[in-house]
Amino acid sequence: MEVDTIAAISTPMGEGAIAIVRLSGDEAILIADKLFRSIGGKKLSEAATHTIHYGHLLDPKSGQVVEEVMVSVMRGPKTFTKEDVVEINCHGGIVSVNRVLKQVLTNGARLAEPGEFTKRAFLNGRIDLSQAEAVMDLIRAKTDRAMNVALGQMEGRLSKLIRRLRQEILEILAHVEVNIDYPEYDDVEEMTHKMLAEKAHFVREEIKKLLQTSEQGKILREGLSTAIVGRPNVGKSSLLNSLVHENKAIVTDIPGTTRDVIEEYVNVRGVPLRLLDTAGIRETEDIVERIGVERSRQVLQDADLILLVLNYAEKLSMEDEQLFEVVKGMDVIVIINKTDLEQQIDLDQVSELAKEHKIVTTSLLEDRGVDELEEAIASLFFAGTIDAGDMTYVSNSRHIALLHQSLTTIEEAIDGVEMGTPIDIVQIDLTRTWELLGEIIGESVHESLIDQLFSQFCLGK
Ligand code: GDP
Ligand code: ZN
Repeated sequence: MEVDTIAAISTPMGEGAIAIVRLSGDEAILIADKLFRSIGGKKLSEAATHTIHYGHLLDPKSGQVVEEVMVSVMRGPKTFTKEDVVEINCHGGIVSVNRVLKQVLTNGARLAEPGEFTKRAFLNGRIDLSQAEAVMDLIRAKTDRAMNVALGQMEGRLSKLIRRLRQEILEILAHVEVNIDYPEYDDVEEMTHKMLAEKAHFVREEIKKLLQTSEQGKILREGLSTAIVGRPNVGKSSLLNSLVHENKAIVTDIPGTTRDVIEEYVNVRGVPLRLLDTAGIRETEDIVERIGVERSRQVLQDADLILLVLNYAEKLSMEDEQLFEVVKGMDVIVIINKTDLEQQIDLDQVSELAKEHKIVTTSLLEDRGVDELEEAIASLFFAGTIDAGDMTYVSNSRHIALLHQSLTTIEEAIDGVEMGTPIDIVQIDLTRTWELLGEIIGESVHESLIDQLFSQFCLGK
């Protein structure tokens, strides 16, 4: 079957200087040959697979040099899409890469749809669905840790786990079949019940474990939503600015998420912080004052982390105490700012109010204490020990939803077993669990779901 050749700009992560035009399909090499002149005069069609060639890209009509390029030739099936792949690296900016893309598109390639490269990799059996989604997460990864999680998933760590669980369920189902086919053997039924209960418990525990990782996984993926609160003038904007300036602000360009406009991402020691409603904080200074205690409680409840700022040079006020009330039970770091000024605050009183919270003192004016604050943020969420690279995290919200559903169905199966429900009814719940888990890796997925998933990808991946 003829596979048409697709092309798109596919810029490597975290780099702006080099841009890549990637082609994939039956004519990828042929099209590149029409445009490329290597220094030694060698044709790409004669080049060995997985080799890189330096030369010029020409406009075949005018014969004029368009760009200086490096071209990688990779023949299928040992490529990301399993098809022939050519990557044209150009070191210019967006203008030159667009010129290259234009040449490629006027010489036989078609512009790839969003996610089409990854979709081909999936459809050609190169990767499973959870791996495909990991590619999307990689593109959006905001810190190295988040990237490690996505990489682990791309290597198929989650898929492996899910396959094992499905295998367990299949074994139970096989036993159930035996039980239904030979109901006259009493010991078969007894054995089946015991084994069934055991295995179903095992599956339930594994699903639970995975769900427990989802909180951290989600944070790594989406950022830790963080709200800075405090009375006017305590230093909230200064804190925001120093967090943004001392850490790489993370640029996001996820299409279709308008909320990014009012959020700012920073990378604090591997923890991506999503500073909430910073526009609001910047403009009106005081979220509590602006929307009232009740509603701010609502807004703040959605935050994973609260940075509560106090003024070292003033006595604690009613407002301060109210704030402590509002953030009760949440993850809070208390920041006592302006330590360069004369102390007015009663630290014992703060300790009393802060009880379970971590307290950090800063002078944002003199740039002191910010390191300690960052340390506190990092240790709060990684307990200082977890290396994201070694663990299987679930971070994708589709996976999380499916795991929740499969937890429900496996629990129903367990209830059924314990209440002595006829085994063929229990079988229905088990089968459903098996199907739901399969959806995570794309093994019982409907076509339209696949289209929907891949259309979320950035162009060029
Ligand atoms: P916000 O109203 O809570 O956002 O507070 P701002 O960040 O706007 O700061 C209010 C004022 O306090 C500004 O003039 C800051 O320069 C000043 N300020 C912030 N941090 C410190 C600090 O650590 N020491 C001193 N002396 N002044 C500070
Ligand atoms: Zn301010």
